Amino acid sequence: MRWFLERITARSSRVSFGIADKKGHEVGFAALVAKKVLKRVSNLESVECGLCNEGHECQVRNDDGVLSYVCENGGGKKLLTDEKLTVYEYDHPAFTELIAQELGIQAADATARSGDPFSALGSYTTETATTQVFYLRTHDAQEASLRFATMGNEPRVLLTNLAEVSLAAGADATRQCALADILAKPRAKTLFDAQAFKARMEGGRRVRFDPSQAQLFVDGTLVYTAGLNSPEHHFLSYLWEHWQEQATHRDIAAYMKKKLGHDVADAAQKVCHKMKSSIKKAYAGIDDILVTPTSGHYMLREPSP
Ligand SMILES: [Zn+2]
Repeated sequence: MRWFLERITARSSRVSFGIADKKGHEVGFAALVAKKVLKRVSNLESVECGLCNEGHECQVRNDDGVLSYVCENGGGKKLLTDEKLTVYEYDHPAFTELIAQELGIQAADATARSGDPFSALGSYTTETATTQVFYLRTHDAQEASLRFATMGNEPRVLLTNLAEVSLAAGADATRQCALADILAKPRAKTLFDAQAFKARMEGGRRVRFDPSQAQLFVDGTLVYTAGLNSPEHHFLSYLWEHWQEQATHRDIAAYMKKKLGHDVADAAQKVCHKMKSSIKKAYAGIDDILVTPTSGHYMLREPSP
């Protein structure tokens, strides 16, 4: 089914499939038609002549449903079956619906399913977390980056067809999963292996910060809540935005100053230490996820196993 994923990774919203695809991938093609991902749309208007050796195109004639063509080089007439001529087209809404259905994604609402190559499929829930699932058909990393930039910081995963894409800074915390890596075995009842997807989703990020509520979660449990617009809120927002990156005290303090709208009283280093101490009073486990990777930096990271 990789061939199919390669074909739909296209800029154009219209992706057509013909006789060659059908012949080349008989089982997969039939499955896609049965699942209504490929829909027959029209018949070819001309075919290559098989009656002489000139290799020319012949117009398909339709006499009351009887299809044929006539060789203009005097090669004669040949009947055609409808089956041989049908051209199929990829149905994007049907495909995104199929992904959601087979992988166990709870659809957000049906209106999200449009011809848009970037689609919100819904949410996926494991024992530890609920993740928003998106699908990018085109592999256009910039488009996905722009869309993610307008969203919150909820855990999310981006499905692509063949391989991961390079998302811009800020959106790069998004997890990715290529559909090609979770294909079901040939001749399975489904196109995708729901168990393989589940295994990937369970190995998810254990730490989550929700900037809108200033709440910190570890393994799905709320461990710390900062005051809205408090220094601690902005401190954690910055580190979350720079997940597993070494953030300098200076950059963190500058961000806090900007967000608070006034200067922070102390030197950058002192401000940062104060923030961590303040959080630690409410949540001792902070030491395990907010670390000093090198002198002068703080970093938010996964807890040690
Ligand atoms: Zn001919």
